[in-house]
Amino acid sequence: RQTKSDADDRIAVSARDVTMDFGADLPAVDNASFDVEKGTFLTILGPSGSGKTTLLRMIAGFQPPTSGVITIGGKPVDAAPPHRRSVGMVFQKLALFPHMTAAENVAFPLKMRRTDPSLIPDKVEQFLSLVKLDGYGERSPHELSGGQQQRVAIARALVFEPDLLLLDEPLAALDRKLREEMQLEFRRIQKELGVTTINVTHDQREALVVSDDIIVMNNGVIQQQSKPVGLYRSPNNLFVASFIGISTFIDGVASADGLKVGNQELPGRHAPDITAGASVRGAIRAEQIRLVGSESGAALADCEIQLAGSVEDVIFEGERLIYVVVSTALPGVKFQIFHHDPHEFDLFEPGVEVRFGWNAKDMKIFQHAAQ
Ligand code: ATP
Repeated sequence: RQTKSDADDRIAVSARDVTMDFGADLPAVDNASFDVEKGTFLTILGPSGSGKTTLLRMIAGFQPPTSGVITIGGKPVDAAPPHRRSVGMVFQKLALFPHMTAAENVAFPLKMRRTDPSLIPDKVEQFLSLVKLDGYGERSPHELSGGQQQRVAIARALVFEPDLLLLDEPLAALDRKLREEMQLEFRRIQKELGVTTINVTHDQREALVVSDDIIVMNNGVIQQQSKPVGLYRSPNNLFVASFIGISTFIDGVASADGLKVGNQELPGRHAPDITAGASVRGAIRAEQIRLVGSESGAALADCEIQLAGSVEDVIFEGERLIYVVVSTALPGVKFQIFHHDPHEFDLFEPGVEVRFGWNAKDMKIFQHAAQ
């Protein structure tokens, strides 16, 4: 068994019952408790207004919580100015100093911390190299691309080797391709330095790609904290199931081992809190539904649930198709089904009769307030 202090040593940041109430109907952050393990990359993920930035600002010490305690390295966060604390930050709006070169920008936090001037040039070079900007030190920010400016901002946030790196949607303003490239860069740099990182984003894909651990927030409330694979495979509730991935939802009434829609019994996996007769909503991921032409027999043999339907729409997304399929057995449900095989694109036109199915274990059934 671990002793308490062993466990405490592994925790970089902890929050206990943290609430931020601005006096609106709901608190911006409502009773949040979580730990961030040292050396990990944690992402706070949630829709706009869910309280992500407020939570990060409290961790940064910009905003004292209404109640609750946040500790960094075991010490309560205080209002000491940023350069006194060992926290690096990259924010979407925290621009580079425009009249300084890239190297001067990176040197700035070292000067603020009264680093021995003779050590500064090597450090600056080392961190410009870390972000792959060797040779760019003399350029002004306006002579750098958006992605290069972000790299300078990352070097500036890390050059003083902080214990903690905070990222508030630093990539939100970049175009998609550059954003995806920089996500991998954040991941690489974080792994290389091993610096504990807390990142805020509303982009579920970014969260899955970069993180060791994810906290999902909605309406100020933490919905789930899990590793990416666990979050994707085992959402705790309907909000997480619908916020991450693409699913089809089926409303019904809980039965002993599934849900019932009219006379149709659909077996599935109940969330722990479900009692028979409750209003529930089943969720099946788009990649877990198999789709075949109405004539082909064997391909659905291992699917416990099998339905006949017709293609209503075909959405082309480049690397994959999404078929939208309807079935008279479940009126009103639009099944979304992924299709990845590039050689079979446009296999089924809208209007074509199909059969589709899934394994009972792949339908997760959650408590759902009846409309
Ligand atoms: P976004 O992704 O849009 O930035 P977010 O998840 O970061 O959203 P927050 O910015 O933390 O959300 O806002 C959470 C809630 O708190 C919102 O309802 C917001 O209007 C409110 N809020 C945030 N800052 C303040 C403030 N200084 N004063 C009053 N209300 C605030």
